[in-house]
Amino acid sequence: MTIRTLFVDDCFGRPETDPRRQKVDLLKAIEGVSVEELDATRLFEFKQARKSRTDIFDLIFVDYKLSTDASDVEGFSTGDQCESLVRAMCSDTPVYLLSVEVAAEREFERPEGFERQVGENFLSNPQNVYKEISNHKELRLALESGDCKQLFSAMGCSDDLVKSDITEALPARVRRCFNTASVSRQSGPPIVHGTKGARVEFCRWFIDLFYKHPGFLLDDRATANLLGMSLEYFTKNIVNQFEAARYKGVFSHTLCPRWWTDQIKECVLDLDDNGILLSKSLAEGAAIILGVPEGEKARCVRCEKLWPDALGFVQDDAHRNLHPVHIRCSIPDPEADLGAYFTSPRLIIDDESASH
Ligand SMILES: [Zn+2]
Repeated sequence: MTIRTLFVDDCFGRPETDPRRQKVDLLKAIEGVSVEELDATRLFEFKQARKSRTDIFDLIFVDYKLSTDASDVEGFSTGDQCESLVRAMCSDTPVYLLSVEVAAEREFERPEGFERQVGENFLSNPQNVYKEISNHKELRLALESGDCKQLFSAMGCSDDLVKSDITEALPARVRRCFNTASVSRQSGPPIVHGTKGARVEFCRWFIDLFYKHPGFLLDDRATANLLGMSLEYFTKNIVNQFEAARYKGVFSHTLCPRWWTDQIKECVLDLDDNGILLSKSLAEGAAIILGVPEGEKARCVRCEKLWPDALGFVQDDAHRNLHPVHIRCSIPDPEADLGAYFTSPRLIIDDESASH
Protein backbone atom coordinates (compact mmCIF):
# COMPACT_ATOMS: atom_id res chain seq x y z
CA MET A 1 0.00 0.00 0.00
CA THR A 2 1.32 3.40 -0.91
CA ILE A 3 0.23 6.11 1.47
CA ARG A 4 0.11 9.74 0.55
CA THR A 5 0.55 12.49 3.08
CA LEU A 6 0.59 16.25 2.85
CA PHE A 7 2.31 18.53 5.33
CA VAL A 8 1.22 22.14 5.38
CA ASP A 9 3.72 24.22 7.25
CA ASP A 10 5.13 27.68 6.96
CA CYS A 11 8.63 26.75 8.05
CA PHE A 12 10.07 24.74 5.21
CA GLY A 13 13.30 26.59 5.66
CA ARG A 14 13.86 24.49 8.78
CA PRO A 15 17.49 23.36 9.11
CA GLU A 16 18.35 19.67 8.93
CA THR A 17 18.87 19.58 12.69
CA ASP A 18 15.31 20.77 13.38
CA PRO A 19 13.34 18.00 15.16
CA ARG A 20 10.30 18.39 12.90
CA ARG A 21 12.47 18.36 9.80
CA GLN A 22 14.11 15.14 11.00
CA LYS A 23 10.79 13.45 11.68
CA VAL A 24 9.39 14.32 8.28
CA ASP A 25 12.63 13.09 6.72
CA LEU A 26 12.26 9.78 8.60
CA LEU A 27 8.78 9.41 7.20
CA LYS A 28 10.00 10.13 3.69
CA ALA A 29 12.59 7.38 4.05
CA ILE A 30 9.91 4.70 4.46
CA GLU A 31 9.16 2.76 1.35
CA GLY A 32 5.64 3.23 0.12
CA VAL A 33 5.12 6.55 1.87
CA SER A 34 4.79 9.62 -0.25
CA VAL A 35 5.23 12.93 1.51
CA GLU A 36 4.26 16.16 -0.17
CA GLU A 37 5.13 19.39 1.54
CA LEU A 38 3.35 22.61 0.96
CA ASP A 39 4.35 26.00 2.17
CA ALA A 40 1.34 27.55 3.85
CA THR A 41 1.91 30.76 1.94
CA ARG A 42 1.25 28.86 -1.28
CA LEU A 43 -2.10 27.43 -0.18
CA PHE A 44 -4.07 29.53 -2.60
CA GLU A 45 -2.03 28.21 -5.51
CA PHE A 46 -2.60 24.71 -4.19
CA LYS A 47 -6.32 25.27 -4.32
CA GLN A 48 -6.11 26.12 -8.01
CA ALA A 49 -3.85 23.18 -8.80
CA ARG A 50 -6.10 20.65 -7.08
CA LYS A 51 -9.35 21.69 -8.66
CA SER A 52 -9.74 18.59 -10.72
CA ARG A 53 -8.12 16.12 -8.34
CA THR A 54 -9.86 15.69 -5.03
CA ASP A 55 -8.87 13.36 -2.22
CA ILE A 56 -5.46 12.46 -3.52
CA PHE A 57 -4.07 12.39 0.02
CA ASP A 58 -4.67 9.83 2.77
CA LEU A 59 -3.78 12.13 5.65
CA ILE A 60 -3.02 15.82 5.88
CA PHE A 61 -1.07 17.54 8.65
CA VAL A 62 -1.42 21.23 9.27
CA ASP A 63 1.08 22.91 11.53
CA TYR A 64 -0.60 24.95 14.19
CA LYS A 65 1.77 27.84 14.47
CA LEU A 66 1.67 29.63 11.19
CA SER A 67 3.84 32.67 11.37
CA THR A 68 2.06 35.98 11.27
CA ASP A 69 4.23 37.33 8.46
CA ALA A 70 2.96 34.75 6.01
CA SER A 71 -0.59 35.06 7.31
CA ASP A 72 -0.78 38.79 6.72
CA VAL A 73 0.25 38.38 3.14
CA GLU A 74 -2.25 35.68 2.29
CA GLY A 75 -5.17 36.83 4.40
CA PHE A 76 -5.38 34.05 6.95
CA SER A 77 -3.94 34.02 10.41
CA THR A 78 -4.62 30.71 12.07
CA GLY A 79 -4.34 26.97 11.52
CA ASP A 80 -8.15 26.91 11.38
CA GLN A 81 -8.36 29.10 8.33
CA CYS A 82 -5.55 27.17 6.75
CA GLU A 83 -7.49 23.97 7.41
CA SER A 84 -10.62 25.23 5.69
CA LEU A 85 -8.62 26.01 2.57
CA VAL A 86 -7.18 22.50 2.54
CA ARG A 87 -10.58 21.00 3.26
CA ALA A 88 -12.16 22.80 0.39
CA MET A 89 -10.17 20.64 -1.99
CA CYS A 90 -9.80 17.43 0.02
CA SER A 91 -13.15 17.08 1.72
CA ASP A 92 -12.84 13.38 2.48
CA THR A 93 -9.28 13.38 3.76
CA PRO A 94 -8.66 13.51 7.51
CA VAL A 95 -6.84 16.68 8.50
CA TYR A 96 -4.73 16.58 11.66
CA LEU A 97 -3.56 19.58 13.55
CA LEU A 98 0.11 19.21 14.37
CA SER A 99 1.26 21.01 17.47
CA VAL A 100 4.17 20.69 19.86
CA GLU A 101 1.97 21.57 22.79
CA VAL A 102 -0.58 18.75 22.79
CA ALA A 103 -0.51 16.46 25.83
CA ALA A 104 -0.76 12.78 24.84
CA GLU A 105 -3.98 12.21 26.80
CA ARG A 106 -5.67 15.03 24.94
CA GLU A 107 -4.86 13.94 21.44
CA PHE A 108 -8.39 12.68 20.82
CA GLU A 109 -9.68 16.22 21.20
CA ARG A 110 -10.29 17.98 17.96
CA PRO A 111 -10.11 21.68 17.48
CA GLU A 112 -12.88 22.98 15.26
CA GLY A 113 -12.53 21.58 11.76
CA PHE A 114 -9.86 18.97 12.46
CA GLU A 115 -10.26 15.23 12.90
CA ARG A 116 -7.61 15.12 15.60
CA GLN A 117 -4.74 17.02 17.09
CA VAL A 118 -1.41 15.31 17.48
CA GLY A 119 1.81 16.24 19.23
CA GLU A 120 5.37 15.87 18.03
CA ASN A 121 5.56 12.34 19.45
CA PHE A 122 3.05 11.15 16.88
CA LEU A 123 5.65 11.67 14.16
CA SER A 124 8.48 10.20 16.24
CA ASN A 125 7.42 6.78 15.09
CA PRO A 126 6.79 6.90 11.34
CA GLN A 127 4.80 3.67 11.63
CA ASN A 128 2.13 5.66 13.48
CA VAL A 129 1.29 7.48 10.27
CA TYR A 130 1.01 4.19 8.42
CA LYS A 131 -1.24 2.62 11.06
CA GLU A 132 -3.38 5.71 11.34
CA ILE A 133 -4.10 5.68 7.63
CA SER A 134 -4.89 1.95 7.73
CA ASN A 135 -7.35 2.61 10.54
CA HIS A 136 -9.06 5.37 8.60
CA LYS A 137 -9.39 2.98 5.68
CA GLU A 138 -10.92 0.28 7.88
CA LEU A 139 -13.53 2.73 9.15
CA ARG A 140 -14.30 3.91 5.64
CA LEU A 141 -14.74 0.40 4.37
CA ALA A 142 -17.09 -0.34 7.27
CA LEU A 143 -19.15 2.73 6.47
CA GLU A 144 -19.23 2.05 2.76
CA SER A 145 -20.17 -1.58 3.26
CA GLY A 146 -23.12 -0.58 5.44
CA ASP A 147 -22.39 -3.73 7.44
CA CYS A 148 -22.24 -3.45 11.21
CA LYS A 149 -20.02 -6.53 11.35
CA GLN A 150 -17.24 -4.58 9.69
CA LEU A 151 -17.58 -1.81 12.23
CA PHE A 152 -17.33 -4.27 15.13
CA SER A 153 -14.40 -5.97 13.48
CA ALA A 154 -12.60 -2.62 13.11
CA MET A 155 -13.16 -2.09 16.82
CA GLY A 156 -12.11 -5.61 17.77
CA CYS A 157 -15.45 -6.06 19.53
CA SER A 158 -16.58 -9.66 19.89
CA ASP A 159 -19.15 -9.55 22.67
CA ASP A 160 -22.71 -9.85 21.35
CA LEU A 161 -24.29 -7.84 24.16
CA VAL A 162 -21.82 -4.99 23.67
CA LYS A 163 -22.41 -5.07 19.92
CA SER A 164 -26.10 -4.77 20.49
CA ASP A 165 -25.58 -1.85 22.90
CA ILE A 166 -23.25 -0.08 20.47
CA THR A 167 -25.87 -0.43 17.75
CA GLU A 168 -28.41 1.16 20.06
CA ALA A 169 -26.02 3.94 20.98
CA LEU A 170 -25.31 4.95 17.38
CA PRO A 171 -26.70 8.37 16.56
CA ALA A 172 -29.71 7.95 14.26
CA ARG A 173 -27.89 9.47 11.30
CA VAL A 174 -25.06 6.98 11.63
CA ARG A 175 -27.31 4.03 12.41
CA ARG A 176 -29.17 4.57 9.17
CA CYS A 177 -25.92 3.83 7.33
CA PHE A 178 -25.78 0.31 8.71
CA ASN A 179 -27.98 -2.70 8.23
CA THR A 180 -28.89 -3.01 11.89
CA ALA A 181 -31.69 -5.27 12.98
CA SER A 182 -33.51 -2.49 14.80
CA VAL A 183 -33.72 -0.21 11.80
CA SER A 184 -35.15 -1.19 8.50
CA ARG A 185 -32.87 -0.01 5.74
CA GLN A 186 -33.94 0.16 2.18
CA SER A 187 -31.83 -1.76 -0.23
CA GLY A 188 -29.20 0.16 -2.07
CA PRO A 189 -26.11 1.97 -0.93
CA PRO A 190 -25.95 3.48 2.56
CA ILE A 191 -27.41 6.94 2.83
CA VAL A 192 -24.13 8.76 3.32
CA HIS A 193 -22.21 6.79 0.74
CA GLY A 194 -20.56 9.15 -1.64
CA THR A 195 -21.66 12.21 0.27
CA LYS A 196 -18.92 14.77 0.30
CA GLY A 197 -17.18 14.72 3.65
CA ALA A 198 -19.23 11.82 5.03
CA ARG A 199 -16.24 9.65 5.66
CA VAL A 200 -14.39 12.17 7.78
CA GLU A 201 -17.60 12.93 9.59
CA PHE A 202 -17.88 9.26 10.45
CA CYS A 203 -14.32 9.27 11.75
CA ARG A 204 -15.04 12.30 13.94
CA TRP A 205 -18.13 10.67 15.28
CA PHE A 206 -16.20 7.49 16.05
CA ILE A 207 -13.42 9.19 18.00
CA ASP A 208 -15.87 11.36 19.93
CA LEU A 209 -18.09 8.44 20.80
CA PHE A 210 -15.45 5.99 21.90
CA TYR A 211 -12.48 8.08 23.03
CA LYS A 212 -13.99 11.23 24.39
CA HIS A 213 -16.90 9.90 26.39
CA PRO A 214 -16.50 7.13 28.96
CA GLY A 215 -19.03 4.43 28.25
CA PHE A 216 -18.12 1.41 26.21
CA LEU A 217 -14.48 2.30 26.68
CA LEU A 218 -12.74 3.80 29.69
CA ASP A 219 -9.40 5.54 29.97
CA ASP A 220 -6.83 4.69 32.65
CA ARG A 221 -8.28 7.16 35.13
CA ALA A 222 -11.85 5.90 34.88
CA THR A 223 -10.68 2.28 34.98
CA ALA A 224 -8.59 2.90 38.11
CA ASN A 225 -11.59 4.52 39.77
CA LEU A 226 -13.87 1.65 38.80
CA LEU A 227 -11.37 -0.73 40.39
CA GLY A 228 -11.13 1.31 43.60
CA MET A 229 -7.54 2.51 43.30
CA SER A 230 -5.46 5.54 42.43
CA LEU A 231 -4.52 6.19 38.84
CA GLU A 232 -0.83 5.84 39.69
CA TYR A 233 -1.28 2.46 41.35
CA PHE A 234 -3.30 1.17 38.42
CA THR A 235 -0.80 2.20 35.77
CA LYS A 236 2.26 1.03 37.74
CA ASN A 237 1.08 -2.20 39.34
CA ILE A 238 -2.19 -3.48 37.95
CA VAL A 239 -2.43 -2.60 34.30
CA ASN A 240 -0.74 -5.80 33.06
CA GLN A 241 -3.33 -8.02 34.70
CA PHE A 242 -6.01 -6.52 32.49
CA GLU A 243 -4.41 -6.98 29.12
CA ALA A 244 -7.40 -9.03 27.98
CA ALA A 245 -9.64 -6.00 28.51
CA ARG A 246 -7.50 -3.59 26.52
CA TYR A 247 -9.12 -1.98 23.49
CA LYS A 248 -7.13 -2.97 20.41
CA GLY A 249 -9.33 -1.59 17.66
CA VAL A 250 -8.85 1.33 15.31
CA PHE A 251 -6.77 4.27 16.61
CA SER A 252 -5.57 2.27 19.62
CA HIS A 253 -2.00 2.49 18.29
CA THR A 254 -1.85 6.22 18.39
CA LEU A 255 -4.16 7.25 21.22
CA CYS A 256 -3.79 6.68 24.97
CA PRO A 257 -4.99 3.27 26.20
CA ARG A 258 -8.67 2.48 26.50
CA TRP A 259 -10.31 -0.45 28.26
CA TRP A 260 -13.55 -2.23 27.47
CA THR A 261 -15.78 -1.55 30.47
CA ASP A 262 -17.50 -4.92 30.37
CA GLN A 263 -14.21 -6.79 30.00
CA ILE A 264 -12.67 -5.02 33.00
CA LYS A 265 -15.61 -6.21 35.09
CA GLU A 266 -15.26 -9.72 33.73
CA CYS A 267 -11.56 -9.80 34.52
CA VAL A 268 -12.27 -8.89 38.16
CA LEU A 269 -14.97 -11.53 38.40
CA ASP A 270 -12.53 -14.11 37.06
CA LEU A 271 -10.03 -13.19 39.78
CA ASP A 272 -12.64 -13.34 42.54
CA ASP A 273 -12.06 -16.89 43.80
CA ASN A 274 -13.59 -16.20 47.22
CA GLY A 275 -16.84 -14.59 46.15
CA ILE A 276 -15.87 -11.19 47.57
CA LEU A 277 -17.95 -9.36 44.98
CA LEU A 278 -21.09 -11.06 46.24
CA SER A 279 -21.10 -8.73 49.23
CA LYS A 280 -18.97 -5.76 48.16
CA SER A 281 -19.21 -3.04 45.57
CA LEU A 282 -17.03 -3.49 42.49
CA ALA A 283 -14.54 -0.83 43.65
CA GLU A 284 -14.21 -2.14 47.20
CA GLY A 285 -14.15 -5.76 46.07
CA ALA A 286 -11.62 -5.14 43.31
CA ALA A 287 -9.32 -3.30 45.73
CA ILE A 288 -9.38 -6.34 48.06
CA ILE A 289 -8.98 -8.89 45.26
CA LEU A 290 -6.09 -6.96 43.72
CA GLY A 291 -4.42 -6.27 47.07
CA VAL A 292 -4.42 -2.48 46.81
CA PRO A 293 -2.59 -0.90 49.79
CA GLU A 294 -4.61 1.45 52.01
CA GLY A 295 -2.86 4.58 50.79
CA GLU A 296 -3.56 3.74 47.14
CA LYS A 297 -7.29 3.11 47.46
CA ALA A 298 -9.50 5.52 45.54
CA ARG A 299 -10.68 8.49 47.55
CA CYS A 300 -13.14 11.28 46.81
CA VAL A 301 -11.42 14.57 46.07
CA ARG A 302 -14.09 16.45 48.02
CA CYS A 303 -14.82 14.45 51.20
CA GLU A 304 -11.66 12.29 51.10
CA LYS A 305 -13.68 9.17 51.94
CA LEU A 306 -13.25 5.86 50.11
CA TRP A 307 -14.86 4.60 46.91
CA PRO A 308 -15.72 7.58 44.75
CA ASP A 309 -18.22 6.33 42.18
CA ALA A 310 -17.73 8.99 39.51
CA LEU A 311 -15.26 11.40 37.96
CA GLY A 312 -15.82 15.11 37.98
CA PHE A 313 -14.18 18.43 37.30
CA VAL A 314 -13.96 21.43 39.56
CA GLN A 315 -16.17 24.33 38.62
CA ASP A 316 -14.22 27.03 36.78
CA ASP A 317 -11.47 24.64 35.73
CA ALA A 318 -11.12 25.58 32.08
CA HIS A 319 -9.17 22.37 31.36
CA ARG A 320 -11.85 20.21 32.98
CA ASN A 321 -9.30 17.93 34.61
CA LEU A 322 -11.11 14.95 36.07
CA HIS A 323 -10.90 13.81 39.69
CA PRO A 324 -12.48 10.88 41.55
CA VAL A 325 -15.61 12.07 43.35
CA HIS A 326 -18.74 10.59 44.92
CA ILE A 327 -21.97 11.13 43.09
CA ARG A 328 -23.32 12.43 46.40
CA CYS A 329 -20.45 14.96 46.62
CA SER A 330 -21.08 16.41 43.16
CA ILE A 331 -23.86 17.54 40.87
CA PRO A 332 -24.63 16.62 37.27
CA ASP A 333 -23.05 18.88 34.71
CA PRO A 334 -26.07 20.77 33.33
CA GLU A 335 -24.39 21.04 29.92
CA ALA A 336 -23.80 17.32 29.46
CA ASP A 337 -26.38 14.83 28.36
CA LEU A 338 -24.72 11.92 26.65
CA GLY A 339 -27.51 9.39 26.77
CA ALA A 340 -27.87 6.05 28.47
CA TYR A 341 -24.65 4.42 27.31
CA PHE A 342 -22.24 7.12 28.42
CA THR A 343 -21.17 8.67 31.68
CA SER A 344 -20.99 12.44 31.84
CA PRO A 345 -18.36 13.91 34.12
CA ARG A 346 -19.81 15.42 37.31
CA LEU A 347 -19.44 18.97 38.47
CA ILE A 348 -17.60 19.39 41.76
CA ILE A 349 -18.81 22.48 43.57
CA ASP A 350 -17.60 24.12 46.72
CA ASP A 351 -20.75 25.18 48.50
CA GLU A 352 -23.15 23.05 50.49
CA SER A 353 -25.66 22.53 47.69
CA ALA A 354 -24.07 19.13 47.10
CA SER A 355 -25.82 17.30 49.92
CA HIS A 356 -24.31 14.47 51.90
ZN1 LIG B 1 -17.19 12.36 48.60
